[in-house]
Formats: sequence, C-alpha cells, structure tokens
Amino acid sequence: MNNQPDEKGFYGVFGGAYIPEILHGNVESLKKAFYAAREDESFQKEYAYLLKQYVGRPSPLYYAGRLSQTYGARIYLKREDLNHTGSHKINNALGQILLAKRMGKTRIIAETGAGQHGVATATACALMGLECVVFMGKTDVERQFLNVQKMRMLGARVEPVTSGNMTLKDATNEAIRYWCSNPDTFYIIGSTVGPHPYPEMVGYFQSVISEEIKWQLEEQTGRSYPDILIACVGGGSNAMGTYYHYIDDPRVKIISAEAGGKGVDTGETAATMHVGTPGIIHGFKTLLMQDHDGQITEPYSISAGLDYPGVGPAHAHFYQTGRASVHAITDAEAMTAAFELTRLEGIIPAIESAHALAVLKKESFGAGDLVVLTVSGRGDKDMDTLINY
Ligand SMILES: *Cc1c(COP(=O)(O)O)cnc(C)c1O
Repeated sequence: MNNQPDEKGFYGVFGGAYIPEILHGNVESLKKAFYAAREDESFQKEYAYLLKQYVGRPSPLYYAGRLSQTYGARIYLKREDLNHTGSHKINNALGQILLAKRMGKTRIIAETGAGQHGVATATACALMGLECVVFMGKTDVERQFLNVQKMRMLGARVEPVTSGNMTLKDATNEAIRYWCSNPDTFYIIGSTVGPHPYPEMVGYFQSVISEEIKWQLEEQTGRSYPDILIACVGGGSNAMGTYYHYIDDPRVKIISAEAGGKGVDTGETAATMHVGTPGIIHGFKTLLMQDHDGQITEPYSISAGLDYPGVGPAHAHFYQTGRASVHAITDAEAMTAAFELTRLEGIIPAIESAHALAVLKKESFGAGDLVVLTVSGRGDKDMDTLINY
C-alpha cells in the first residue's frame, strides 16, 4: 500500500530517520508502542470515543451548491473546520496523547507555527492532566497572540524561540534540541514530518478523514469515491488524511495546493515541492528549500500554517512519481478564494484551507465531476489578516 512507508520509513527515496544517537531508543520505543496500539482494541475504543464525543466527529461532508454552480462540478466540502479547537490538528493530538499515556509519559512537548497545533496539544494535555511545553518562534508569538493566550489558559508553558527567523522551523529545531536533553518527554509532532515513525503515525491518526469521506460520499451520491480530491499541504497532515484510503485507487485524481507566497520565482515563497531539492531537515529526507551550500532558505507565506521549508516525505514522493499534481497558490489567489467561499457558502475558511479552494480556478472540470475538498480549519485565527487585506 502506498500510504505506508517501507520498514525504514521511506516513501520512495524520501523519509527515514536521520536522528542523533541519543534519540534512537526513544524513536524505537515509540515505534513499538504505536504499532501495538494500532492493533489494540481498547486503544481504538478510547480514541474513537474521543473523536466522536469530544471532537464532534464525524465532521460533515457538505454539498456546496453555489460553489458547484460557479465551477461546473459537484463539489463537496469536508468540514474539518467544525472540529473542536477549529482544525484537523486535534485528531492527531488526541491520538498521540493516548499513546503518551500508554507509554507512561508525564511531560509533553510540541512545536507550533500559527498556534493551531499548540492549542490542540495544550487542549489534549489539559484533558489528560499532563504537563505541556510548546515551542513557538518569537515572531509567531507576537503575530498569533490569541492562540498564545489560549495555550496559557489551558495550562501550557509557551517557550518563545529567538533563533533564525523565529518561526516554525526554528521552533521545531528547539523542540528537537529539548527532546535530546530530556529524552523522557513525549514529543507530539503536528504534521506528517519528522523522523520515522512520525509521518506514518500522524497520517494514520488523520486517516479518519478519508474513512468518513468514503461512507459519507456513498450515502449522499451512491458512490464511495470521488473523481478528484483537493487539499492544502504544509507538512501534509490534513492532505494525507484526505487521501489515505484513496491513494491506491487509480480512479481518484489527487491535487495538492502548496503555498506560493508572492510567487515561486520571487524568492518569497513556501512552495517546497516546486522549488525544493532533496535534503535533510528535522530528522527526515525530503524536498527542501535550500541554497547551493545546503543552507535552508527562509520560507514565506501569508499563512503561518504553511510557512515551512520542507514537506512530508509521502507528499514529496507523490509529487515526484506523479501520483499527485501540485499547484503553488499565491497569497493573492488564496485571499480571493477565502472571500469567495465566505460569500458563496457562508463559511470563513482558514487561509491555509483557502489555498486548496484556489485550486478550483486552476482546473477545468467536467459537469459530472465529483470533487471532495478538505476545509482544514476555520478562519477565526486569521481575522486580522483577512480584514487588513
Ligand atoms: C496546520 C494547518 C495546516 C497545515 O498543516 P498540514 O499538516 O499540512 O495539514 C493546514 N490548515 C490548517 C487549518 C492548519 O491549522
């Protein structure tokens, strides 16, 4: 199955575990615990209960009538924006916190960019009564202050990171550094990135998205698969969840949206798959924005959740093998799409999700085409950016 890496964690040539010796034991015991939990009925039962009664799943699959009319296709929106805490991130945070509990860990660390994963992790820690430390670039602490206040209210300690650009990449560096000197902590990574088994594990915890799409689509259209799936890719977790059960189905076309920033040729971009070359970051091999000396280039996007110089190894593999086609969506295209969805359907999306919506203008559809597009989060956190635009 193409949604699974090989036993060393490789999707094609990407992935793996490039970690310092000190973390080797951690990563090995995490792997063991994850594979055991996946097969364990009591773990599955507790996780399913939380997804249903705490997160509010299944998230609706909504037929967007006016959007469909505009683009001449049958467009369904997978509403991850309606989850508790406002995005898909909670699916993964809860899966990993249950695993942490099972492993007897009491202190949790996490990295965050826009703050959505930080809030989801702080929420899961409050729920389980565990200690929580969130690493966040100082720049992001300042521009996403509402989420910082939420994390603190939930009982988490937010550690502002002052290295580099003081954004997501730097927060992740710091979380890994802390993990190396405190190997007893459990590191909850927020996307399908990091050393094996994280990309596989996070993809698995998000796979509930396509599991639901299958029966919801069958219920509403009499067919369990769409012609086209669309999702935005930062590290790639909401997209992996959306594609998971369809990756081996050749009837389903997969289209990803990455953040073009001001344009792929401007130097101010986060379009990793378009401009990246193979390299290693945060413990895995992927397509990476870097210069000729292998120095990582600072990414830029209007959306703090897509502002990452790498991409999950599975997505680099899908891109390179042609399984997915990938559009680089500019800031302006994403903003236009955000306002369009708001006016056509009464849904204010996160700016990340708006990148997926902008794909609708880039493709031409047949009248019968069945499209499922994941709205990964709600726009509340982005109101300042949307108003100022
Ligand atoms: C974090 C985030 C993303 C990007 O992360 P992925 O792992 O690529 O899904 C996209 N949308 C929202 C709303 C987010 O919070």
